[in-house]
Amino acid sequence: MKIICIGRNYADHAKELGNDIPDEPVIFMKPKSALLQGHTPFYYPEFTNELHYECELVLRVSKNGKYIPERFAGNYYNAITVGIDFTARDIQEELKSKGLPWEKAKAFDNSAAVGRFMDITPALNKKNINFCLYKNKELVQQGNSGKMIFSFDSIVSHISNYFSLNIGDLIFTGTPAGVGECVVGDELEGFIEDGMLLTMDVK
Ligand code: ZN
Repeated sequence: MKIICIGRNYADHAKELGNDIPDEPVIFMKPKSALLQGHTPFYYPEFTNELHYECELVLRVSKNGKYIPERFAGNYYNAITVGIDFTARDIQEELKSKGLPWEKAKAFDNSAAVGRFMDITPALNKKNINFCLYKNKELVQQGNSGKMIFSFDSIVSHISNYFSLNIGDLIFTGTPAGVGECVVGDELEGFIEDGMLLTMDVK
């Protein structure tokens, strides 16, 4: 499986990091070794002094495909959860300033935390899903899928022009504003609507 991530998919977040609004989805990848799920703690990596959380909706691919037209893209994923795209922001800024790839800052071990998946049913309005992140019981990020620059279906279609999608692949769909630092001892809790799907201790 692979993990595909979308950057700058919320205008308010692009702005907070001083980035332009993209005219097509910004894509980067994380390897399988980045996946962190269940109740495993996240261990603060030694190479960073500025670890950020980015809370995102995550889709799970349920059907193999490539060159998927947007109007059929909804048939290619069937589960959703909330995840954290852990980012070594200091490393990322350094790499960005040199025009180098981001992987060391974004794709390291355990940098893709995902919560418990829930099925996407016809009752779920994919254009109006509220999600949020609490840090130490305090609300730090709040998003709604309706505010994404590129919708789930447009992301899936766009990705599949470059990378075949396979059953079990995960897609991080971008973070809203409010990203910030976490330190050892922090407790993170991710919600879709009022369902807590992710809990994570930073050790
Ligand atoms: Zn992200």
